[in-house]
Amino acid sequence: MKQYTLLIGGEPVATSHHAAVANPSNGEIVGYMPLGSEADLDQAVAAATRAFKSWSRTSSEKRAAACRAVAEKINEHAEELAQLLTREQGKPLNGLGSRFEIGGALAWTRHTAELDLPIEVLQDDNEGRVELYRKPMGVVGSITPWNWPVMIACWHIVPAVRAGNTVVIKPSPLTPLSTIRLVEIINEVLPPGVVNVVTGENSIGAALSAHPGIAKMTFTGSTETGRKVMASAVATLKRLTLELGGNDAGIVLPDADPKAIIEGLFWGAFINNGQTCAALKRLYVHDSLYDEVCNGLADYASRIAVGDGLDEASILGPVQNEMQFNKVRELVDDARAHGGRILTGGVPMDRPGYFYPITLVADVDHGVRLVDEEQFGPALPIIRYSDIDEVIARANQNPAGLGGSVWSSDAEKAKRYALQLECGSVWINKHGTIQPNAPFGGVKQSGIGVEFGTEGLKEFTTIQTVLS
Ligand code: NAD
Repeated sequence: MKQYTLLIGGEPVATSHHAAVANPSNGEIVGYMPLGSEADLDQAVAAATRAFKSWSRTSSEKRAAACRAVAEKINEHAEELAQLLTREQGKPLNGLGSRFEIGGALAWTRHTAELDLPIEVLQDDNEGRVELYRKPMGVVGSITPWNWPVMIACWHIVPAVRAGNTVVIKPSPLTPLSTIRLVEIINEVLPPGVVNVVTGENSIGAALSAHPGIAKMTFTGSTETGRKVMASAVATLKRLTLELGGNDAGIVLPDADPKAIIEGLFWGAFINNGQTCAALKRLYVHDSLYDEVCNGLADYASRIAVGDGLDEASILGPVQNEMQFNKVRELVDDARAHGGRILTGGVPMDRPGYFYPITLVADVDHGVRLVDEEQFGPALPIIRYSDIDEVIARANQNPAGLGGSVWSSDAEKAKRYALQLECGSVWINKHGTIQPNAPFGGVKQSGIGVEFGTEGLKEFTTIQTVLS
């Protein structure tokens, strides 16, 4: 089985220690992740610092062309990346799985290549001229999670590089191989040292976020780890983009048409088995539609094939890892013990791998862990309500504020309520449909800053104002 290497300054760097990466569908070893040391990390930061000197001075056109070339490389290797991603992450090749994720990585890379931050002239008159420049920051440290590892790596790497920075990325130890391969592919078209990858245990993430050679951290992961990254960044006042956990509420108004919304509700919640930051994680349904929506979702769930990710027929796969599998099981058991009515699922599937079925839990409310905490798995609590203003206020009680949605036959009315939700993105009659031109980020404890589009690109720059 293949032993992967780090990639530093454009060269493979072998490590003396490795860790096995296993397929969550069946436990088979996919490959061996190199266990990078802090000395490897220092080397990577040094290589990225050297590369920054020339990369930061390249023209915007040249960097746009380089990002386009990265997109073409991803396209060329799309199927290879999708197969590797399925084997280490578990998500199916089909449905909203690996091929979809690589397609997303490609779409974001292409879109970001075309963004630009030209000089802005703020004043030009007899009093003087004021110009605003957006300059690259230096070496960007990137830390990514295991749920959408390739797409999120592109969300970090491509805008950083497009803006003239260089990168050291540390992927999750649970899904490192597809990121190593991505960085290898990227290095076929970018100069050495512009993008480097150091894999290893969580301690490498901590060392990266504390490293004095890193100008900015871009982190996607849990709120708990985000706090640690923020604390590590204090000593050197690193700039931060933190995309953290969510507990998105979806609110079905009494005038919604259940038949029209079931599919959207289902995929809003169960995309990637619910292991998605902006998945619908708490569903509030008006009393008058409650039974119809519950039954419609259970019926829809019964038609979804859950199986090995490499099986072309699978639409959903296993939960990615044991910790997450145990968490989902624990939260569902707890909800059941507190009066939750299991409409479908509710016990692990009887087969090897971390298979937990699509689970719908009715008749739960605030105060139950499945509602209050981020489950990050295939289990959706469905909460009954009767007063719309009250349910908006209750939905806002959660400390998370990533996404939210309102479902109604009257889009204008839905928007009025949507604007009252305390979250960074809000959807009408859909949920979680992010796109590369729409800034995305959390409010409250779901993060700091935004990604995507020009607003996201700006986060990889500092302002220099020139007054003459
Ligand atoms: P996690 O916080 O456990 O790990 C994320 C990354 O942080 C991994 O690479 C890990 O190795 C690293 N890490 C762990 N300890 C660290 C430390 N002390 N210092 C620095 N880095 C450290 O998260 P996860 O379980 O991989 O991902 C799931 C979480 O990510 C969920 O909460 C989900 O909502 C969130 N998420 C958010 C977004 C978003 O855009 N807001 C996107 C995807 C996932």
